[in-house]
Amino acid sequence: RAVAGAAHAAGALVAVDNTTATPLGQRPLDLGADVVVASGTKALTGHSDLLLGYLVTRDAGLRDSATTWRTTTGGVPGAFDCWLAHRSLATLDLRLARHTANAGALADLLAARPDVTGVRWPGRPDDPAYPVASAQMRRVPGVLSFDLGDEGRVARFLGASRLVAAATSFGGLHTTADRRAQWGDATTPGFVRFSCGVEDTADLLADVAAALDAAG
Ligand SMILES: *Cc1c(COP(=O)(O)O)cnc(C)c1O
Repeated sequence: RAVAGAAHAAGALVAVDNTTATPLGQRPLDLGADVVVASGTKALTGHSDLLLGYLVTRDAGLRDSATTWRTTTGGVPGAFDCWLAHRSLATLDLRLARHTANAGALADLLAARPDVTGVRWPGRPDDPAYPVASAQMRRVPGVLSFDLGDEGRVARFLGASRLVAAATSFGGLHTTADRRAQWGDATTPGFVRFSCGVEDTADLLADVAAALDAAG
């Protein structure tokens, strides 16, 4: 909301990427954004089996120009992808609820371990983003981050885990983790972006704890 106000005061439009939050987690247009863009590939559809994206605005002029651009130059989604997405939306609320519950429990577990540093999850009251997240988000996504120190330890952790798949995408049914520095992101070598799936919470915590123990 603060960014939208400052940008509008300067005469700029505001576009928000709402991929991680999904429309059930955060409504940027209500917070002042002019446009929302998002991938539909991640938590919105959640099964890691399709590629979609969308743009939303309440401004008819922006909508018409974006629609014209999309129709003349963009990719038009296939019927089967749309059918899969529509079917997947029915479980969005259930999936997000488990993502959030798993992330909250896992963040607590990680924060209590001396061999894990830099745990970030906006749903934790001591997280720097908590005040904004709790005021502006209806629910906190299942994506968190932490640091395991170095590349080798991340590799041993991923190798030892039975439930965590190494993958760049996030927001799916299955828990995934990505060491971002391998793609050139300006993150530390041990930084892990971790996306909680919908596995049983106790199973996921036990698996992550055992994999961390095995990683040394
Ligand atoms: C993945 C992602 C995209 C791109 O989405 P695709 O559907 O994979 O093309 C855009 N924005 C954010 C924040 C993403 O995480």
